[in-house]
Amino acid sequence: MSDCLFCKIVGKQIPAKIIYEDDDLIAFNDIRPAAPVHFLVIPKQHIDSLLGCTEQDQVLLGKLLARVPHIAREQGLQAGFKTAINTGEAGGQEVYHLHLHVLGTPEES
Ligand code: 5GP
Ligand code: ZN
Repeated sequence: MSDCLFCKIVGKQIPAKIIYEDDDLIAFNDIRPAAPVHFLVIPKQHIDSLLGCTEQDQVLLGKLLARVPHIAREQGLQAGFKTAINTGEAGGQEVYHLHLHVLGTPEES
């Protein structure tokens, strides 16, 4: 997927503010934040969209979702956050590499 924007972020060919990375996932700040904290969590493996997912993807999808609270806490979102996955043309998806939006306002310390 050499022409995929988020694959290029995974490959460090395009800069992004990466806030979390492991063998399967990467999270980085959204370039046009819609909240004080707004980051995207993506699988490193290219998946176009939730529309293309099947049971074969359930371990990776489960891992992605299960890592969100850990990353969110590190970003100050202990009290909670909103999540969204825009899916397909009718769902307003702009970048066709599966990504979960996480949005919130950090707790005052
Ligand atoms: P969606 O596909 O869920 O509708 O939106 C894609 C999201 O990716 C948008 O919130 C947009 O701001 C973000 N985005 C698009 N291009 C880039 C980029 O080059 N870098 C980063 N960090 N975010 C991007
Ligand atoms: Zn991709």
